Amino acid sequence: MKTYKIAAIPGDGIGGEVITAGITVLDALAKRRGSFAFDIQRFPWGADYYLEHGQMMAEDGLETLKPFDAIYFGSAGDPRIPDHITLWQLRLAICQGFGQYANVRPTRVLEGVRSPLAGVGPGDFDWVIVRENTEGEYAGVGGRAHKGFDNDLAMDVSVFTRTGVERIHRFSFELARSRPRKLLTMVTKSNAQRHGMVMWDDIFSQVAADYPDVTTDRMLVDAMTTRMVLDPGSLDVIVATNLHADILSDLAAALSGSMGIAPTANLRPEGDFPSMFEPIHGSAFDIMGKGIANPIGAFWSASMMLEHLGEADAADSLMVAIERVTAGGEMMSQDLGGTATTNEVTAAVIDAIHGDNE
Ligand code: ATP
Repeated sequence: MKTYKIAAIPGDGIGGEVITAGITVLDALAKRRGSFAFDIQRFPWGADYYLEHGQMMAEDGLETLKPFDAIYFGSAGDPRIPDHITLWQLRLAICQGFGQYANVRPTRVLEGVRSPLAGVGPGDFDWVIVRENTEGEYAGVGGRAHKGFDNDLAMDVSVFTRTGVERIHRFSFELARSRPRKLLTMVTKSNAQRHGMVMWDDIFSQVAADYPDVTTDRMLVDAMTTRMVLDPGSLDVIVATNLHADILSDLAAALSGSMGIAPTANLRPEGDFPSMFEPIHGSAFDIMGKGIANPIGAFWSASMMLEHLGEADAADSLMVAIERVTAGGEMMSQDLGGTATTNEVTAAVIDAIHGDNE
């Protein structure tokens, strides 16, 4: 029997609650199927670790994580510590340290969930947003000088490399090719950003020549927001830069019904380093410790992790169980208009995995 070694990093805020729920569901699924198991090791990295040790993860954190088959991540962020420290010392340190260049964010309205878009429901849109995850606007290049003086200055430099841009476009074309509509929309801002974004567009056209079976179109990022709201059914796979996709995918999550539902995979397609799976939401301190966080984003991320591990059948069956619960309408957490707690939603999904509610 195959045993998958998973590093769990619950992190901050509701991260601990949803990752604990996710691990319970993964263990239940493994037991139910009987063909694989998980060896899950938890790492206490995050804000509390920072306050004790002065850093968000252990010095040798990346070395420790490298042998794992996958990383299951909660969230990083804490009101006691500046956001750029929590983000850069943990999540981005792992994404960049392991070259997880493809950030993949599927979005659709699950059965039983209401989109804030009038007249839009399950089946009306089915997007995968692909976010470039290692460079662009979040390359970390820049500086600050003369702090506290009148000539205080700060620079963040967007970095686009041919290697980085070509591999994310190629990944997106492959993904688009694998889906029924074979449709890829490229998001840009090359009218205003006339160097990096123009190269981004040029390389997209060059890669497109290798995929004549994929239909492409391009959108300026500002116009893309209106298209997502006004004509959601016209989109399928979407590729955008680190910053643009960060913003568009929060909009996408809200349009799918709640920030608490949406999943993310930070993929290292070559497999020489582990990939990382996490709900799209952050630490949500306003609801931390209340036991009401929606764990579905963490469950859907676990399904993406299973698919990445080669357990496509189990991944599908987890999604079926999740949608059986949302379709039932009784076990909805507060963000979805219900009153169910994290534990109640988790138990309902486990029941659905066992087919007990049929
Ligand atoms: P961060 O700064 O770490 O990104 P945040 O609290 O600013 O975190 P999010 O956690 O992304 O932002 O979420 C914004 C709001 O959406 C939260 O304050 C919370 O009310 C709601 N929310 C997010 N995730 C969930 C969830 N899983 N279940 C219920 N509500 C959620």
